[in-house]
Amino acid sequence: MSAPSRRPPEAVIFDWGGTLTPWHTVDLPEQWRVFAREVHGVPVDARDMPVEDLAEADSLAVRIHEAEERAWSRGRQTHESASLGAILEEAGVDPAHDRHHLALAAYRRYWEPHTRTDAQVRPLWQGLHDRGLKVGLLSNTIWSRAYHRELLQRDGVLDLLDADVYSSEIHCVKPHPEAFLAACAAVGVDPEAAVYVGDRPFEDVHGPQQVGMRAIWVPHSDIPTDQKVAVEVTPDGEANELLDILAIVDGWLAGR
Ligand SMILES: [Mg+2]
Repeated sequence: MSAPSRRPPEAVIFDWGGTLTPWHTVDLPEQWRVFAREVHGVPVDARDMPVEDLAEADSLAVRIHEAEERAWSRGRQTHESASLGAILEEAGVDPAHDRHHLALAAYRRYWEPHTRTDAQVRPLWQGLHDRGLKVGLLSNTIWSRAYHRELLQRDGVLDLLDADVYSSEIHCVKPHPEAFLAACAAVGVDPEAAVYVGDRPFEDVHGPQQVGMRAIWVPHSDIPTDQKVAVEVTPDGEANELLDILAIVDGWLAGR
């Protein structure tokens, strides 16, 4: 239970994947096979392509997948951020290649079904605004602000977002304290008056609590074992579905 002396919340800041989007288990090596086969002009269902072309594409896919795994692993260990461009560069992808944009488009098509905003986001964000709270977003991501904003615009919620911070644009990832301080600064609210909502105990509960924020845990994501960091934490609240957050916030606003 929160101590009676705690400040009432003035902002709620959200994680993106597995929180604002329902959790999907994604075939991570496949995203880069799709990308690499497009670089090499190999249709995914091709049966009659020379086997060397396929092998070359698949070896590129493995290199990119390994570079991305190293980037996320560095993030968990040193909290250093990464970007899609840096990962592709590390894997030896030439961004000036004449098929690069086709490959990026294929990669985005692969992700498209996994980026859909939960239908409860709009009524939740509207409800928070109705209570006078700001709405923010802080995501550990290799994608750009422009791409994330396109997805939020597509799903009709971007107009309700007050401020957003993406790790691809700053030097660190969650749970580094500076990521949360940057997000609080972006919404213009002190950490003690800000709430964070996310699906990962290490990144999204331990992280914000370190800087004095409250943390609400969304417990449904099936986080892969190799992405889990063991941590003993107790969230300030737990939301079985996103709209539960309104009742939790109402309790805090009432001083409960
Ligand atoms: Mg998440």
